[in-house]
Amino acid sequence: MAFMKSPHQIDVDIAIVGAGLVGATFAHLLSRLPLNVALIDRREFGPLKAPFDSTELEFDPRVSALTEASKLLFQKLDIWEAITDKRASPYQEMEVWDADGTGAIDFSAREIGSSELGHIVENSLILSALHDSLASIENLELIGGVAIEQLTLGNNNGDKARITTESGTVISASLVVAADGGNSLIRKLANIDTKEWDYEHTAIVTTVKTQLPHGAKALQRFMSSGPLAFLPLSLGQNSADQHYCSIVWSCLPELAESLMALPEAHFNESLEQAIESRLGKIEFSAKRFAVPLRQRHGKKYYQNNVVLVGDAAHTIHPLAGQGVNLGLLDVAALAEELRQGLKSGRSVFDPVVLGRYERKRRGHNLTTMWAMEGFKRLFAEERLPVRWLRNVGLKSVNSLPLLKNQIARKAMGLDG
Ligand SMILES: Cc1cc2nc3c(=O)[nH]c(=O)nc-3n(C[C@H](O)[C@H](O)[C@H](O)COP(=O)(O)OP(=O)(O)OC[C@H]3O[C@@H](n4cnc5c(N)ncnc54)[C@H](O)[C@@H]3O)c2cc1C
Repeated sequence: MAFMKSPHQIDVDIAIVGAGLVGATFAHLLSRLPLNVALIDRREFGPLKAPFDSTELEFDPRVSALTEASKLLFQKLDIWEAITDKRASPYQEMEVWDADGTGAIDFSAREIGSSELGHIVENSLILSALHDSLASIENLELIGGVAIEQLTLGNNNGDKARITTESGTVISASLVVAADGGNSLIRKLANIDTKEWDYEHTAIVTTVKTQLPHGAKALQRFMSSGPLAFLPLSLGQNSADQHYCSIVWSCLPELAESLMALPEAHFNESLEQAIESRLGKIEFSAKRFAVPLRQRHGKKYYQNNVVLVGDAAHTIHPLAGQGVNLGLLDVAALAEELRQGLKSGRSVFDPVVLGRYERKRRGHNLTTMWAMEGFKRLFAEERLPVRWLRNVGLKSVNSLPLLKNQIARKAMGLDG
């Protein structure tokens, strides 16, 4: 249990602000260390109302393509079974192609000796599995339904940081972990600057039913206006139905606006055309959501005794489905540095410990962000020589199994 001075004062070793996918996973990782922890979120803890619990056939429009590395982490935390018991959709193949030519590249789990390339899982389902088992963690105080409003930084001499909730509770912590998402208030209050820019893309997300089965294959078509992904969904372990996909259609904001305004039948037709009828007719599409995409990266990952993880540290274009996966690698790395630091007598706010975490993760996140930016720009390019090179490039990579397998292993989070 955290040390409670009064109902309005709590004293812990580590306060995690944000119990999203990244913050909740971090709380699980810390349960293995001798630390008192508080996990705070403006949303209530307790049973989540999630689409998979509905009697109707409903899906969460927000899904994640979890890499093999993320699966291994959830297995280590005993969360994976709770996820797959509900529904997770393994995909064995992936095809990426250029709308503007004949270049294409396909990846197959078989070619790299794996049973799948990854799993598509609804975010609320992962969150529900994570939150369900938080209550049984000792030394963890769950503070839900209140937003954090203020932060007073501590220092590296042992003065604790203090965060204040909207209801006036003050939480003192030796280390504050900002897992409060892309618009992180903690990052702002800690005066950590970001490098950011607009992708000039809006992502439309929804669930669709297709005439043809997806065959456990993810599809991604790159158009000059942006990429469109079809991510195969499963209806659960007892169903062989392969007619549902989650879609992420990233496109120029004006196009997104007009697509959002279309009646369902017209939207379905546009979608079918955009994916070149690969899965036959789009028979149904659920409510659409539009998410403006912005890239952000913390210029540093810690300040005094505040450290950033997940989207609070970096937000990235969803075209390769890496956002959550990168955040999970962040918290795995931070937990490991804290473990090693404690073993050698260092405190949780020791700049040596936080610096090691930053060095481990910032370069890797930056490389991934640049790769996504490069992809986005390459496929937006209309000049003929670039289009030609793009097609030749895709075809060449596709014919080089060794290189292709290296790319696939990297995307699965298996090779650094
Ligand atoms: C369209 C789209 C598709 C995507 N697809 C993929 C994919 O396929 N694969 C993938 O890996 N990633 C994907 N991502 C990225 C992924 O969704 C994010 O990287 C991930 O959700 C970030 O998790 P997080 O826990 O860091 O932040 P969040 O999920 O944003 O969680 C932040 C938490 O902090 C809480 N909070 C915020 N402020 C406060 C406050 N002041 N006080 C208290 N609580 C607070 C919030 O309530 C929330 O629970 C996609 C993103 C988009 C936009």
